[in-house]
Amino acid sequence: MKPELKNQFEWLGEWRNENGSPIPHVIFGGGDFAAIGSMGTTGVVRTDEGLVIFDLPIREQGLKAFKRVRDFSDKPVKYIIYSHGHFDHCFGYKPFIEECKEKGWDFPEVIAHENLIPRFEKYEMLDEYHDWINSMQFSSIVKKSGVNAHKNLKPTILMRDQYRFTLGQYTFELFHDKGETDDSIWLWIPERKVIFAGDLVQISYPNVGNPYKVQRYPKHWALAMERMLEKNPNYLVLGHGRPILEKEKVIDILSITAEAMHFVHDEVVKRLNQGKWFEEIYHEMLDIYPEKFENHPYLKPLYGCYRFAIHATYRLYHGWYDTGNPTNLFPSRSSEIAKELLKIASQEKYLEHAKQLHGEGKLQLAIHILDVIINAGQESCDETTFRDTLQLKQRILKRKAEEEPSLIATNIINNEANRLKHHLKEMAKKEKNESASNDKQEL
Ligand SMILES: [Zn+2]
Repeated sequence: MKPELKNQFEWLGEWRNENGSPIPHVIFGGGDFAAIGSMGTTGVVRTDEGLVIFDLPIREQGLKAFKRVRDFSDKPVKYIIYSHGHFDHCFGYKPFIEECKEKGWDFPEVIAHENLIPRFEKYEMLDEYHDWINSMQFSSIVKKSGVNAHKNLKPTILMRDQYRFTLGQYTFELFHDKGETDDSIWLWIPERKVIFAGDLVQISYPNVGNPYKVQRYPKHWALAMERMLEKNPNYLVLGHGRPILEKEKVIDILSITAEAMHFVHDEVVKRLNQGKWFEEIYHEMLDIYPEKFENHPYLKPLYGCYRFAIHATYRLYHGWYDTGNPTNLFPSRSSEIAKELLKIASQEKYLEHAKQLHGEGKLQLAIHILDVIINAGQESCDETTFRDTLQLKQRILKRKAEEEPSLIATNIINNEANRLKHHLKEMAKKEKNESASNDKQEL
């Protein structure tokens, strides 16, 4: 198993020890704190007066998380806190609510940031679209994302900047900081110096420039890390993956994440001020990426990645016109452009050149060239050349996906490779049927 994949299982909540046996939960902080392995991580605090739950997993894993919580404690749930409104942090609520009904317990208070309300409203407006983008983004994990926000557990307490309550022997201090979303909150428990961070801390480079999703906030992300560092925490529960229980590592992950977010933000801003356009900024940024980030165990591009973060920062301050070339202001259809290019050189020449680039290991350049033939469409091409073109692109995408560490990027690349494979199968089937019917006619 490639190490990235092992870490992806960790990220998805499939925690295993050295011998490969599953770890359902991690208990720490003197025994009252647990992190439950699921997508995403569910945090539990046991007090004398009941439980506080920080985040619920995806809808499909609600029951699994519930059973694991009940293995840890049978006390009633008094509070549920949503770190943010993403579908892997607040939709697995059903078994917890059913339990309250069965046992005649009061329903728990549900705490969220006030921006979670418009987020859920947006999900309701765009639920088919979100189902589609999430099925693309998580295609290797779930076929249907279950993001349907029409079924949700509404917050009963909305907070803005800070919120504080006590339950039993513990104080719960909640803080808002923007990062992956504009509705993120994190929890600080001073008695045991524990932070529940939600997706503000993961075992991956921050998911700050997701290709399918709305704007995220690299600079605010860095500031959130610094605010957490000010607390001098001993334990850190992440939005995905096992909690960090060694103080030295807690300080390390918060510090390096802050540094990495400041870096990507400030370097893009510097280049915007130098009058550079996206392409120049992007490639310069790839060239200057410091090794200390690249090699850091907590900044591996398992989910989010640096390459996406460059986009996020640029987009934060820039409009959609990103080349400075007016050719791109009102562009023609790519199929029309490709058809004109094929008038200059034949599709065979393009294919031959792409094969040469492929042979030289220039995979990205090769697919750019193949796209000229593909964009022009099958009607502009003889069948054999078109099929060879699709086959080569499919092979290149498969290889790129194998080499790609980011789950999001791997899924995007694999989705297209699988679509091409399906298309090639359909072409072969059609060809077979046509030749069979020709044979019949000849008989
Ligand atoms: Zn998450």
